[in-house]
Amino acid sequence: MKNQVQSIFDLTKPELAVYLQRIGQPRFRVDQIWQWLYRALVNDPDRMYNLPKDLQQRLAEDFIFHPVEEIQQVVSADQRTYKGLFRLQDGQTVEAVLMLYAQRRTVCLSSQVGCAMGCAFCATGQMGFMRNLTVGEIVDQVLCFARRVAAQGEALTNLVFMGMGEPLANYPAVWAAVERFHDPTGFDLGARRMTISTVGLVKGIRKLATESLPVNLAVSLHAPQDTLRQELIPIAGPRYPIAEIMAAVREYIAITNRRVSFEYALMRDKNDSLEQAQDLADLLKGLLCHVNLIPLNPTPGSPWQPTPQPQADAFREVLTRNGIPATMRVRRGIEIQAGCGQLWSKDLKGENSLLQPVLGRKMSPSATG
Ligand code: SAH
Ligand code: SF4
Repeated sequence: MKNQVQSIFDLTKPELAVYLQRIGQPRFRVDQIWQWLYRALVNDPDRMYNLPKDLQQRLAEDFIFHPVEEIQQVVSADQRTYKGLFRLQDGQTVEAVLMLYAQRRTVCLSSQVGCAMGCAFCATGQMGFMRNLTVGEIVDQVLCFARRVAAQGEALTNLVFMGMGEPLANYPAVWAAVERFHDPTGFDLGARRMTISTVGLVKGIRKLATESLPVNLAVSLHAPQDTLRQELIPIAGPRYPIAEIMAAVREYIAITNRRVSFEYALMRDKNDSLEQAQDLADLLKGLLCHVNLIPLNPTPGSPWQPTPQPQADAFREVLTRNGIPATMRVRRGIEIQAGCGQLWSKDLKGENSLLQPVLGRKMSPSATG
């Protein structure tokens, strides 16, 4: 393993150009390498066959081409959801999920190792915060899955920053990754196919409103009142009261004219009463928004249970009666702990599913137990 060496995926295209100029390479090499990385999805300089041998060698010496390595994966019973465990250069691990359904091939990716927000119902929150991911680590999670679907002749269609971590707490790296995915000369994914989900970091929401790429914004609300929200989301506390989040969201909509999604994990007898549904409707009335109801997914340390389906339907009904569009998120990959809030950095061997070692890569002793 190379320490202290930069990942090739950390570089913007202009940075790659500066590097290549510094080592005396002609300008057209920039586009060649960029296309290998982000179009052909090749992450081995030896396979970039239109580059001269000495440049291939130099690239291999100067950069890491595997900032994240998929060391294990689990597959859901219906083979539509894959969860990967990715090892980073410093030995830490993160998870990311590929979901195949209808015409969509969506990656749910991580932005941090762990999360500092401490939501008690979320497995990532339960593990605490280790560190931010780098741009290269964020980008390469997606490229790993892009290579997998490319092998089937397909391409990824959607990216959601709903894996481990709070994306707006790692804003610079997350936004650089968004720009990388969007780059029409590279990966070329439309901005509207990307969604950033936040627990409600007000400054980040305001900053997102000023960005030129129209990515989707999802805000995890989970409660219509501050007291309950603070119990569920400790960071909400005095720092992010609902009124301030709503003010930032209103500003975001005024600037962008884009619909905002609110996520609401339904927890039995906690935040799922019809009165709370009415309070939520009152809070959101007149706003260009949509509510995603998520029946709570089980996590080991969570004190709460999912709302039973009839109550969840009744909750949704209150919202729609009040003119608030609301849908129930389909639960996927729950049996492999790949659902919302179930991601955790750990060996996947114990999970009740089809464990597949990743072909062609050695499993580390620590990863295989
Ligand atoms: N940190 C960001 C994004 C990652 S979490 C955020 O909180 O928005 C992605 C989504 O999963 C969020 O809406 C989060 O509230 C939700 N979630 C977390 N734990 C969950 C659980 N156990 N069941 C259902 N949804 C959960
Ligand atoms: Fe962090 Fe989001 Fe999980 Fe809360 S729900 S702990 S903000 S990842």
